Amino acid sequence: MASMRLPPLPSVRDIIKLYRLSATKQLSQNFLLDDKLTDKIVKCTGKICDSGVLEVGPGPGTITRSILRKSPKRLVVVEKDPRFKPTLDLLQDAFSVTNRKMDIILGDILSVNLKELLAEEDNRAWSDECPSLYLVGNLPFNISTPLIIKWLHDIAERRGAWSNGRVRMTLTFQKEVAERLVAQPSDDQRCRLSVIAQAWTIPKLQFIIPGKAFVPQPDVDVGVVSFVPLKIPRTSHEFEFFEKVNRHMFSFRQKYCVKCVRTLYPPECTEQLADVTCKLADVDPLARPFNLSVEEIDRLASAYKYICEKHPEVKHYNYRASRKVLSRKMTRGVVIENYEGEDENCNV
Ligand code: SAM
Repeated sequence: MASMRLPPLPSVRDIIKLYRLSATKQLSQNFLLDDKLTDKIVKCTGKICDSGVLEVGPGPGTITRSILRKSPKRLVVVEKDPRFKPTLDLLQDAFSVTNRKMDIILGDILSVNLKELLAEEDNRAWSDECPSLYLVGNLPFNISTPLIIKWLHDIAERRGAWSNGRVRMTLTFQKEVAERLVAQPSDDQRCRLSVIAQAWTIPKLQFIIPGKAFVPQPDVDVGVVSFVPLKIPRTSHEFEFFEKVNRHMFSFRQKYCVKCVRTLYPPECTEQLADVTCKLADVDPLARPFNLSVEEIDRLASAYKYICEKHPEVKHYNYRASRKVLSRKMTRGVVIENYEGEDENCNV
């Protein structure tokens, strides 16, 4: 279906004036009022006609209008600021004329139950094509990183919105965060967020929106990133474990990766175990963390897991905790296997 015409509505600018919807800083409100830009965001989202769509933070509703013009089967909007309810009610009424449904949820996107909210939507097996269900939003800066980490975790666990299958999403981020999400090995912006995002999805930086396009204008530009969950993730590890290894791997971004691996182990045996980890993972200990591929970090995680299974004493080692506390707790010697054959004792 081509773009749909909504019944006549006051412009978003007029609505902002009418309801005195001044932007609040606490909720990171920076509005997009140019519908060419919001149409472009919605175009990147995919073929949403006759699909289910969930929009995060509709605010005064410019993206919402772009979505509705594309005639989705159902639109759910989740907005934390109740001041926008009357403007969203207006859009809901206009959309209902078309016999399609718009649901307004006043709440926090970090705590709403997406599985329940989207239970009626298209549902596919993970190995199947992506369902006709899309998540989209011009995210508030203050929640964009925690939200994408939470959603990547949900993708890894196939829960929440991803109980419906490989649901695609298109979201905005501060330009630097957007660049980190898509950064490849050796790129300046490569960091743990790049590895986590790319282990479970294909993230694509669609385009940059200059800060001056927003009202009020933020100090930064904004990147629009789309994510397609991978049928077969690039790691078989659980999210929290893989995230922990990544956190350690990027603890010294510019140093040799063996130095980062050492932070996984107690000081008493760190050198030996870090060398063994790199060897088992077939990763060059002198590589820099930002040069490592997802697969190399995955292999390091597997090697670390193997060592933890062999030597459970090292599993709960916390690099940040004081060495004194740890040495008191760890009274038994840790047996370090010489992976060439013999065992070697390291007393900690
Ligand atoms: N979509 C609108 C636009 O593009 O003009 C507004 C975008 S503004 C950057 C972010 C919106 O998210 C605001 O409407 C804000 O009230 C809302 N918001 C902030 N925190 C939220 C949260 N935790 N859950 C849901 N909405 C939130």
